[in-house]
Amino acid sequence: MSAEWASEATGRLLAAIDALPRERLAFSRADVAARVVVADHMQGSGMEAMIDDAFNVVGRLEGMDPTLRPLVVASHTDTVPDPGRLDGALGVFAGIECARALAAIDRRLRHPLLVIDFSDEEGSTTYGCWGSRAVAGALTPGEKAALAEPESALRVTLVAGGGHLAELGRVIRPLEAPVMGRIEPAAYLELHIEQGPVLERVAVATAAVTAIVGIERYEVRLGGVSGHAGTVPMADRDDAVLRAAVLVETFWKYVLGLGSQAVTNFGRVNVEPGSYNVIPSAVSLGVEVRSPEPELVDQMRARLSELAAGAGGQLEVIGHEDPLPLSAEIIKATRESADAEGIACRELPSWAGHDAGVFAPRTPTGMIFVPSIDGVSHSPAEATRQTDIALGLRLLLATLRRLDERL
Ligand SMILES: [Zn+2]
Repeated sequence: MSAEWASEATGRLLAAIDALPRERLAFSRADVAARVVVADHMQGSGMEAMIDDAFNVVGRLEGMDPTLRPLVVASHTDTVPDPGRLDGALGVFAGIECARALAAIDRRLRHPLLVIDFSDEEGSTTYGCWGSRAVAGALTPGEKAALAEPESALRVTLVAGGGHLAELGRVIRPLEAPVMGRIEPAAYLELHIEQGPVLERVAVATAAVTAIVGIERYEVRLGGVSGHAGTVPMADRDDAVLRAAVLVETFWKYVLGLGSQAVTNFGRVNVEPGSYNVIPSAVSLGVEVRSPEPELVDQMRARLSELAAGAGGQLEVIGHEDPLPLSAEIIKATRESADAEGIACRELPSWAGHDAGVFAPRTPTGMIFVPSIDGVSHSPAEATRQTDIALGLRLLLATLRRLDERL
Protein backbone atom coordinates (compact mmCIF):
# COMPACT_ATOMS: atom_id res chain seq x y z
CA MET A 1 0.00 0.00 0.00
CA SER A 2 1.07 3.56 -0.65
CA ALA A 3 2.67 6.10 1.65
CA GLU A 4 -0.51 8.20 1.29
CA TRP A 5 -2.64 5.35 2.60
CA ALA A 6 -0.25 4.84 5.55
CA SER A 7 -0.27 8.50 6.48
CA GLU A 8 -4.07 8.73 6.33
CA ALA A 9 -4.52 5.45 8.25
CA THR A 10 -2.04 6.65 10.90
CA GLY A 11 -4.08 9.81 11.45
CA ARG A 12 -7.21 7.70 11.80
CA LEU A 13 -5.66 5.22 14.23
CA LEU A 14 -4.20 7.94 16.47
CA ALA A 15 -7.59 9.68 16.61
CA ALA A 16 -9.20 6.37 17.54
CA ILE A 17 -6.66 5.76 20.33
CA ASP A 18 -7.14 9.28 21.69
CA ALA A 19 -10.91 8.74 21.84
CA LEU A 20 -10.47 5.86 24.35
CA PRO A 21 -10.40 6.42 28.11
CA ARG A 22 -6.72 7.25 28.77
CA GLU A 23 -6.05 4.85 31.67
CA ARG A 24 -7.40 1.32 31.15
CA LEU A 25 -6.46 -1.05 33.95
CA ALA A 26 -7.51 -4.59 32.99
CA PHE A 27 -11.17 -5.45 33.63
CA SER A 28 -11.96 -1.97 35.01
CA ARG A 29 -14.96 -0.05 33.70
CA ALA A 30 -12.65 2.05 31.45
CA ASP A 31 -10.91 -1.03 30.04
CA VAL A 32 -14.19 -2.78 29.31
CA ALA A 33 -15.68 0.37 27.76
CA ALA A 34 -12.61 0.64 25.50
CA ARG A 35 -13.08 -3.00 24.42
CA VAL A 36 -16.61 -2.24 23.31
CA VAL A 37 -15.31 0.75 21.29
CA VAL A 38 -12.62 -1.46 19.72
CA ALA A 39 -15.24 -4.08 18.77
CA ASP A 40 -17.44 -1.40 17.17
CA HIS A 41 -14.41 0.04 15.38
CA MET A 42 -13.64 -3.43 13.96
CA GLN A 43 -17.23 -3.81 12.75
CA GLY A 44 -17.02 -0.40 11.10
CA SER A 45 -13.83 -1.47 9.34
CA GLY A 46 -15.35 -4.45 7.56
CA MET A 47 -14.74 -7.20 10.14
CA GLU A 48 -17.03 -9.42 12.17
CA ALA A 49 -16.19 -8.70 15.83
CA MET A 50 -16.90 -10.39 19.14
CA ILE A 51 -15.70 -10.15 22.71
CA ASP A 52 -14.72 -13.63 23.90
CA ASP A 53 -14.92 -15.23 27.31
CA ALA A 54 -11.40 -14.02 28.23
CA PHE A 55 -12.36 -10.37 27.39
CA ASN A 56 -10.36 -10.44 24.16
CA VAL A 57 -11.85 -8.49 21.29
CA VAL A 58 -11.56 -10.66 18.19
CA GLY A 59 -12.19 -9.22 14.73
CA ARG A 60 -12.36 -11.56 11.74
CA LEU A 61 -11.99 -10.83 8.05
CA GLU A 62 -12.74 -13.83 5.87
CA GLY A 63 -10.04 -14.94 3.46
CA MET A 64 -10.42 -16.50 0.05
CA ASP A 65 -9.67 -19.99 1.37
CA PRO A 66 -11.75 -20.73 4.49
CA THR A 67 -9.91 -24.02 5.08
CA LEU A 68 -6.66 -22.21 5.97
CA ARG A 69 -5.76 -21.40 9.55
CA PRO A 70 -5.93 -17.67 10.33
CA LEU A 71 -3.17 -15.10 10.31
CA VAL A 72 -3.31 -13.16 13.59
CA VAL A 73 -2.36 -9.49 14.07
CA ALA A 74 -2.70 -8.61 17.74
CA SER A 75 -1.65 -6.57 20.74
CA HIS A 76 -3.50 -5.14 23.77
CA THR A 77 -5.42 -2.01 24.81
CA ASP A 78 -5.15 -2.47 28.59
CA THR A 79 -2.61 -0.13 30.19
CA VAL A 80 -0.47 0.41 33.28
CA PRO A 81 -1.51 3.23 35.68
CA ASP A 82 -0.78 6.73 34.27
CA PRO A 83 0.19 5.24 30.91
CA GLY A 84 1.46 6.43 27.57
CA ARG A 85 -0.63 6.60 24.43
CA LEU A 86 0.85 3.87 22.24
CA ASP A 87 1.91 0.81 24.26
CA GLY A 88 -0.36 -1.94 22.96
CA ALA A 89 -3.09 0.24 21.46
CA LEU A 90 -0.87 1.02 18.46
CA GLY A 91 -0.69 -2.66 17.48
CA VAL A 92 -4.43 -3.23 17.85
CA PHE A 93 -5.48 -0.23 15.76
CA ALA A 94 -2.73 -0.89 13.20
CA GLY A 95 -4.23 -4.38 12.75
CA ILE A 96 -7.67 -2.84 12.27
CA GLU A 97 -6.29 -0.43 9.64
CA CYS A 98 -4.71 -3.36 7.75
CA ALA A 99 -8.05 -5.19 7.76
CA ARG A 100 -9.90 -2.07 6.67
CA ALA A 101 -7.50 -1.59 3.74
CA LEU A 102 -7.81 -5.23 2.65
CA ALA A 103 -11.61 -5.16 2.91
CA ALA A 104 -11.93 -1.84 1.07
CA ILE A 105 -9.88 -2.78 -1.96
CA ASP A 106 -11.42 -6.25 -1.92
CA ARG A 107 -7.96 -7.77 -2.17
CA ARG A 108 -8.54 -10.18 0.61
CA LEU A 109 -5.87 -12.50 1.88
CA ARG A 110 -5.99 -16.21 1.18
CA HIS A 111 -6.06 -16.79 4.93
CA PRO A 112 -8.72 -15.53 7.28
CA LEU A 113 -7.33 -12.56 9.26
CA LEU A 114 -7.94 -12.22 12.99
CA VAL A 115 -7.19 -8.87 14.63
CA ILE A 116 -7.14 -9.36 18.39
CA ASP A 117 -7.09 -6.96 21.32
CA PHE A 118 -5.87 -9.22 24.14
CA SER A 119 -6.91 -8.60 27.76
CA ASP A 120 -4.62 -7.87 30.73
CA GLU A 121 -1.29 -8.01 28.92
CA GLU A 122 0.16 -5.67 31.53
CA GLY A 123 -0.72 -7.94 34.45
CA SER A 124 -2.74 -5.44 36.50
CA THR A 125 -4.83 -8.28 37.88
CA THR A 126 -3.38 -11.54 36.63
CA TYR A 127 0.18 -12.76 36.06
CA GLY A 128 -0.02 -10.87 32.72
CA CYS A 129 -0.87 -11.78 29.09
CA TRP A 130 -4.14 -13.21 30.44
CA GLY A 131 -6.12 -13.08 27.23
CA SER A 132 -3.37 -14.39 24.96
CA ARG A 133 -2.52 -17.21 27.37
CA ALA A 134 -6.22 -18.09 27.64
CA VAL A 135 -6.68 -18.53 23.88
CA ALA A 136 -3.28 -20.18 23.38
CA GLY A 137 -4.09 -22.78 26.05
CA ALA A 138 -1.34 -21.51 28.36
CA LEU A 139 -3.14 -20.75 31.63
CA THR A 140 -1.42 -22.22 34.69
CA PRO A 141 -3.04 -25.02 36.74
CA GLY A 142 -3.40 -22.47 39.57
CA GLU A 143 -5.30 -20.08 37.30
CA LYS A 144 -7.59 -22.84 36.07
CA ALA A 145 -8.33 -23.81 39.67
CA ALA A 146 -9.00 -20.15 40.55
CA LEU A 147 -11.49 -19.87 37.66
CA ALA A 148 -13.51 -22.69 39.20
CA GLU A 149 -13.40 -21.17 42.72
CA PRO A 150 -16.29 -18.69 43.27
CA GLU A 151 -14.43 -16.66 45.93
CA SER A 152 -11.07 -16.40 44.14
CA ALA A 153 -9.75 -12.91 43.43
CA LEU A 154 -9.42 -13.82 39.75
CA ARG A 155 -13.02 -14.95 39.42
CA VAL A 156 -14.36 -11.99 41.40
CA THR A 157 -12.45 -9.62 39.07
CA LEU A 158 -13.69 -11.33 35.92
CA VAL A 159 -17.28 -11.35 37.16
CA ALA A 160 -16.99 -7.62 37.91
CA GLY A 161 -15.62 -7.07 34.38
CA GLY A 162 -18.58 -9.02 33.00
CA GLY A 163 -20.84 -6.69 34.97
CA HIS A 164 -19.26 -3.62 33.33
CA LEU A 165 -19.83 -5.22 29.96
CA ALA A 166 -23.46 -6.01 30.74
CA GLU A 167 -24.00 -2.33 31.71
CA LEU A 168 -22.91 -1.50 28.16
CA GLY A 169 -25.41 -3.97 26.76
CA ARG A 170 -22.91 -6.70 25.84
CA VAL A 171 -23.00 -10.16 27.28
CA ILE A 172 -20.18 -12.68 27.45
CA ARG A 173 -19.68 -15.80 29.51
CA PRO A 174 -16.42 -14.80 31.20
CA LEU A 175 -15.65 -18.09 32.88
CA GLU A 176 -16.14 -20.66 30.16
CA ALA A 177 -12.72 -22.23 30.43
CA PRO A 178 -13.63 -25.11 28.06
CA VAL A 179 -13.91 -22.75 25.09
CA MET A 180 -10.46 -21.26 25.78
CA GLY A 181 -7.36 -22.63 24.09
CA ARG A 182 -8.85 -22.62 20.64
CA ILE A 183 -6.82 -20.22 18.45
CA GLU A 184 -4.09 -21.92 16.43
CA PRO A 185 -2.86 -19.35 13.93
CA ALA A 186 -0.85 -20.01 10.79
CA ALA A 187 1.29 -17.06 11.94
CA TYR A 188 1.20 -14.31 14.57
CA LEU A 189 2.37 -10.70 14.00
CA GLU A 190 2.51 -7.77 16.44
CA LEU A 191 3.44 -4.15 15.80
CA HIS A 192 4.65 -2.43 18.99
CA ILE A 193 6.69 0.55 20.15
CA GLU A 194 10.27 -0.39 21.05
CA GLN A 195 10.01 1.05 24.60
CA GLY A 196 13.80 1.53 24.51
CA PRO A 197 16.19 4.00 22.82
CA VAL A 198 18.01 1.90 20.21
CA LEU A 199 16.03 2.63 17.02
CA GLU A 200 15.91 6.34 17.70
CA ARG A 201 19.65 6.42 18.36
CA VAL A 202 20.48 4.72 15.07
CA ALA A 203 17.76 6.71 13.23
CA VAL A 204 16.08 3.62 11.77
CA ALA A 205 12.26 3.60 11.58
CA THR A 206 11.53 -0.10 12.07
CA ALA A 207 12.95 -3.32 13.48
CA ALA A 208 12.23 -6.99 12.92
CA VAL A 209 12.31 -8.43 16.44
CA THR A 210 14.64 -11.42 16.76
CA ALA A 211 13.72 -12.72 20.23
CA ILE A 212 11.98 -11.87 23.45
CA VAL A 213 14.61 -11.86 26.16
CA GLY A 214 14.99 -14.53 28.79
CA ILE A 215 14.78 -13.40 32.42
CA GLU A 216 16.31 -14.98 35.50
CA ARG A 217 15.90 -13.74 39.07
CA TYR A 218 18.10 -14.52 42.05
CA GLU A 219 18.32 -13.94 45.73
CA VAL A 220 21.91 -13.49 46.89
CA ARG A 221 22.52 -13.70 50.65
CA LEU A 222 25.73 -12.42 52.17
CA GLY A 223 26.68 -12.56 55.84
CA GLY A 224 28.71 -10.34 58.17
CA VAL A 225 29.25 -9.95 61.92
CA SER A 226 27.00 -7.53 63.75
CA GLY A 227 28.46 -5.22 66.36
CA HIS A 228 28.40 -1.70 67.80
CA ALA A 229 28.55 0.84 64.97
CA GLY A 230 30.79 3.10 67.06
CA THR A 231 33.05 0.98 69.20
CA VAL A 232 34.33 -1.65 66.75
CA PRO A 233 37.42 -0.28 64.90
CA MET A 234 36.95 -0.14 61.13
CA ALA A 235 39.80 -2.58 60.51
CA ASP A 236 38.11 -5.20 62.71
CA ARG A 237 34.72 -5.13 61.02
CA ASP A 238 33.07 -7.78 58.87
CA ASP A 239 30.33 -5.65 57.32
CA ALA A 240 27.80 -7.48 55.10
CA VAL A 241 27.02 -4.26 53.19
CA LEU A 242 30.67 -3.87 52.21
CA ARG A 243 30.69 -7.44 50.86
CA ALA A 244 27.49 -6.66 48.97
CA ALA A 245 28.84 -3.38 47.57
CA VAL A 246 31.93 -5.08 46.17
CA LEU A 247 29.82 -7.86 44.64
CA VAL A 248 27.36 -5.39 43.06
CA GLU A 249 30.11 -3.31 41.49
CA THR A 250 32.08 -6.31 40.23
CA PHE A 251 29.04 -8.03 38.69
CA TRP A 252 27.67 -4.80 37.22
CA LYS A 253 30.97 -4.16 35.41
CA TYR A 254 31.13 -7.80 34.29
CA VAL A 255 27.69 -7.53 32.64
CA LEU A 256 28.59 -4.17 31.07
CA GLY A 257 31.59 -5.94 29.54
CA LEU A 258 29.38 -8.62 27.97
CA GLY A 259 28.10 -6.04 25.47
CA SER A 260 24.66 -5.02 24.28
CA GLN A 261 22.98 -8.43 24.61
CA ALA A 262 22.90 -8.66 28.42
CA VAL A 263 21.61 -6.54 31.30
CA THR A 264 21.34 -6.85 35.07
CA ASN A 265 19.49 -5.01 37.80
CA PHE A 266 19.88 -5.05 41.58
CA GLY A 267 16.32 -3.95 42.26
CA ARG A 268 16.01 -5.02 45.89
CA VAL A 269 18.43 -4.65 48.76
CA ASN A 270 17.56 -5.75 52.27
CA VAL A 271 19.96 -5.05 55.17
CA GLU A 272 19.76 -6.82 58.55
CA PRO A 273 19.20 -5.82 61.24
CA GLY A 274 18.73 -2.52 59.39
CA SER A 275 19.71 -0.01 62.05
CA TYR A 276 22.03 3.05 61.97
CA ASN A 277 23.85 1.89 65.09
CA VAL A 278 24.44 -1.79 64.27
CA ILE A 279 27.02 -3.17 61.84
CA PRO A 280 25.02 -5.15 59.19
CA SER A 281 25.03 -8.89 59.87
CA ALA A 282 23.37 -9.88 56.58
CA VAL A 283 22.35 -8.48 53.20
CA SER A 284 20.00 -10.03 50.71
CA LEU A 285 20.07 -8.77 47.13
CA GLY A 286 17.22 -9.24 44.64
CA VAL A 287 18.94 -9.53 41.26
CA GLU A 288 17.56 -9.88 37.74
CA VAL A 289 19.42 -10.66 34.51
CA ARG A 290 18.01 -10.52 30.98
CA SER A 291 19.36 -11.64 27.61
CA PRO A 292 18.01 -12.92 24.29
CA GLU A 293 20.84 -15.53 24.34
CA PRO A 294 20.55 -18.54 26.68
CA GLU A 295 24.37 -18.87 26.89
CA LEU A 296 24.68 -15.34 28.24
CA VAL A 297 22.07 -16.06 30.93
CA ASP A 298 24.10 -19.17 31.87
CA GLN A 299 27.32 -17.14 31.98
CA MET A 300 25.79 -14.43 34.16
CA ARG A 301 24.35 -17.00 36.59
CA ALA A 302 27.74 -18.75 36.85
CA ARG A 303 29.64 -15.49 37.44
CA LEU A 304 27.17 -14.21 40.05
CA SER A 305 27.22 -17.56 41.83
CA GLU A 306 31.04 -17.49 41.89
CA LEU A 307 31.05 -13.94 43.29
CA ALA A 308 28.48 -14.88 45.95
CA ALA A 309 30.52 -17.92 47.01
CA GLY A 310 33.70 -15.82 47.03
CA ALA A 311 32.02 -13.40 49.43
CA GLY A 312 30.97 -16.26 51.72
CA GLY A 313 27.36 -16.14 50.60
CA GLN A 314 24.86 -18.09 48.52
CA LEU A 315 22.79 -17.62 45.41
CA GLU A 316 19.31 -19.00 44.93
CA VAL A 317 17.51 -18.98 41.56
CA ILE A 318 13.97 -17.76 42.24
CA GLY A 319 12.62 -17.31 38.72
CA HIS A 320 13.46 -18.35 35.17
CA GLU A 321 11.92 -17.62 31.80
CA ASP A 322 13.69 -18.90 28.68
CA PRO A 323 14.56 -16.48 25.88
CA LEU A 324 11.96 -16.86 23.12
CA PRO A 325 13.44 -16.72 19.63
CA LEU A 326 10.95 -15.40 17.06
CA SER A 327 10.41 -17.05 13.68
CA ALA A 328 13.38 -16.81 11.30
CA GLU A 329 10.93 -17.08 8.39
CA ILE A 330 8.94 -14.05 9.62
CA ILE A 331 12.10 -12.04 10.32
CA LYS A 332 13.15 -12.77 6.72
CA ALA A 333 9.70 -11.86 5.36
CA THR A 334 9.76 -8.62 7.37
CA ARG A 335 13.22 -7.63 6.08
CA GLU A 336 12.29 -8.47 2.49
CA SER A 337 9.06 -6.47 2.79
CA ALA A 338 10.99 -3.52 4.20
CA ASP A 339 13.44 -3.67 1.27
CA ALA A 340 10.59 -3.87 -1.24
CA GLU A 341 8.85 -0.86 0.34
CA GLY A 342 12.09 1.11 0.79
CA ILE A 343 11.70 1.21 4.57
CA ALA A 344 14.78 1.15 6.80
CA CYS A 345 14.70 -1.90 9.08
CA ARG A 346 17.17 -3.57 11.42
CA GLU A 347 17.05 -6.52 13.79
CA LEU A 348 16.61 -6.07 17.55
CA PRO A 349 15.65 -8.24 20.51
CA SER A 350 12.74 -7.21 22.72
CA TRP A 351 13.81 -6.52 26.31
CA ALA A 352 10.19 -6.47 27.52
CA GLY A 353 7.54 -9.22 27.48
CA HIS A 354 4.65 -9.18 24.96
CA ASP A 355 1.62 -11.24 23.93
CA ALA A 356 3.86 -12.41 21.05
CA GLY A 357 5.91 -14.29 23.65
CA VAL A 358 2.91 -16.47 24.44
CA PHE A 359 2.62 -17.57 20.81
CA ALA A 360 6.37 -17.82 20.05
CA PRO A 361 6.80 -21.40 21.35
CA ARG A 362 3.59 -22.55 19.61
CA THR A 363 3.30 -20.85 16.24
CA PRO A 364 5.48 -18.89 13.75
CA THR A 365 5.60 -15.51 15.50
CA GLY A 366 7.04 -12.13 14.54
CA MET A 367 7.12 -8.58 15.86
CA ILE A 368 7.82 -5.19 14.29
CA PHE A 369 9.10 -2.31 16.43
CA VAL A 370 8.85 1.41 15.75
CA PRO A 371 11.05 3.90 17.69
CA SER A 372 10.17 5.35 21.08
CA ILE A 373 11.29 8.98 21.42
CA ASP A 374 13.99 9.06 24.16
CA GLY A 375 13.19 5.38 24.78
CA VAL A 376 10.38 6.38 27.16
CA SER A 377 7.44 4.07 27.86
CA HIS A 378 4.91 3.32 30.63
CA SER A 379 4.72 7.10 31.03
CA PRO A 380 2.56 9.91 29.62
CA ALA A 381 5.74 11.10 27.84
CA GLU A 382 5.70 7.97 25.63
CA ALA A 383 5.72 9.07 21.96
CA THR A 384 6.64 7.99 18.43
CA ARG A 385 6.93 10.26 15.39
CA GLN A 386 3.82 10.01 13.24
CA THR A 387 5.97 9.38 10.16
CA ASP A 388 7.60 6.40 11.91
CA ILE A 389 4.19 4.98 12.86
CA ALA A 390 3.14 5.24 9.21
CA LEU A 391 6.27 3.33 8.13
CA GLY A 392 5.60 0.65 10.75
CA LEU A 393 2.02 0.32 9.56
CA ARG A 394 3.08 -0.04 5.92
CA LEU A 395 5.64 -2.67 6.90
CA LEU A 396 3.03 -4.56 8.94
CA LEU A 397 0.63 -4.80 6.00
CA ALA A 398 3.38 -5.66 3.51
CA THR A 399 4.70 -8.42 5.79
CA LEU A 400 1.19 -9.77 6.33
CA ARG A 401 0.62 -10.04 2.59
CA ARG A 402 3.99 -11.67 2.02
CA LEU A 403 3.27 -14.26 4.71
CA ASP A 404 -0.20 -14.82 3.25
CA GLU A 405 1.40 -15.77 -0.06
CA ARG A 406 4.06 -17.99 1.50
CA LEU A 407 2.27 -19.91 4.23
ZN1 LIG B 1 2.58 -3.53 25.32
